[in-house]
Amino acid sequence: MAAFWRDLGLPGLVDIHTHFMPPKVLEKVWAFFEDGHAGVGRPWPIYYRQPEEERVALLREFGVRRFSALLYPHKPGMAAWLNSWAAGFAARTPDALHSATFFPEPGAAAYVAEAIGAGARLFKAHLQVGAYDPRDETLDAVWGMLAEARVPVVVHCGSGPTPGRFTGPGPVSEVLARHPRLVVIVAHLGAPEYGDFLSLAGRVPDVYLDTTMAFTGFLERLAPFPAALLPRLAALADRILLGSDFPNIPYPYLHQLKALARLDLGTDWLRAVCYHNAVRLLGL
Ligand SMILES: [Zn+2]
Repeated sequence: MAAFWRDLGLPGLVDIHTHFMPPKVLEKVWAFFEDGHAGVGRPWPIYYRQPEEERVALLREFGVRRFSALLYPHKPGMAAWLNSWAAGFAARTPDALHSATFFPEPGAAAYVAEAIGAGARLFKAHLQVGAYDPRDETLDAVWGMLAEARVPVVVHCGSGPTPGRFTGPGPVSEVLARHPRLVVIVAHLGAPEYGDFLSLAGRVPDVYLDTTMAFTGFLERLAPFPAALLPRLAALADRILLGSDFPNIPYPYLHQLKALARLDLGTDWLRAVCYHNAVRLLGL
């Protein structure tokens, strides 16, 4: 693993899309994937099922210098509790980016303000699992605050692995039109709507895309990335961020890195994606 970033002359990696959650929640997420509920029509065994400290140690061993701790609620009344757990995790894990989340519910603006005040520097919104409309009026103040504070939000807004009512480029584009200073990181490179989300990033300078699972054998079988889009991926070199979905992946971590290298977009592209873009965006 270290050879990958050393050969690029990097001091390590920054992974914008990793998950750390309260152990009981993570157990449920793992069971969801392993019991076939993700709807991908094939097994999704979790490769990194270790206890939390071992998972943190693994990322450090891989040379991941900073990583996120993305969590997300699937129902109301959960986000504030997840955020307090995440604040504790960030406090005891100095190389983890303090992450937070929200749900359209009364009180969302208050707990998001509290999380930003407490130092959260990355949010996660999961439109597929949460099954909510990002244009919901209870979220207007939330997007407004994130835009004002320039705190990026990783949004799972693509319709992979299965479409949701509010996935796809439409709803999130409307949120961006209403909050032009909002910094959005489109998860999974927008799979399977790669072209639409690359176009969105082409139009809106504060839209980024993370590489999470993209180009891996697993995702290529479900939602192949069209080779015709490679030049646009190359051109957006300053807007693509390494993400992995560690630990909830059905293959070893190195597979994601090799999948990016195989695109053959050059070492400058890899250096920007695997390290420099995140350092610049998050002021690391
Ligand atoms: Zn994820």
